[in-house]
Amino acid sequence: MTQSTKHSDIVQGLAARLAAAGETLLGRSLAIRHVDAGSCGGCEMELLSATLMWDHLGCHGICMVEDPRSADILLITGVSSTGLAEAARQCLAAMARPRFVVAVGDCAADGGIFKGSPSVLGGAAAILPVDLVISGCPPSPARIISGLLTVLDANRAASALGSPVGRL
Ligand code: SF4
Repeated sequence: MTQSTKHSDIVQGLAARLAAAGETLLGRSLAIRHVDAGSCGGCEMELLSATLMWDHLGCHGICMVEDPRSADILLITGVSSTGLAEAARQCLAAMARPRFVVAVGDCAADGGIFKGSPSVLGGAAAILPVDLVISGCPPSPARIISGLLTVLDANRAASALGSPVGRL
């Protein structure tokens, strides 16, 4: 087995677990809305790879959606620039509960290498309530999917104890 085949198997395994966690928590497919709040494009490349991986799983219960009203997770990339922050806020406002906000990449964590620039607000947490940060510049597909899985698993465990951690 080559290194890339092994990596693909790992990512697909994580995607299958994510789909199952979404089904358990929500009783249906897991819908993700992505918002680019000022990325260089690197995080989007990795996100595209991740979505190709779960597309290979067929209709296993994870999909990217355009309409925020049907989304469960807002996945935000980029520095949260002054010009794009409002679009991210409006997207979250349109989402029904339960909903989760996941910041992907070092820029979304705190502005990354652009921190301190005049038009950089300093990451997703500067404009939205963030449930999880997935660090990396950029984070790998496996890291992205693993992070999403963490959010759902943590919320499922907390729900069982009567104190959900997601923004329900
Ligand atoms: S974290 Fe890195 S790859 Fe992602 S948007 Fe920022 S600079 Fe680009």
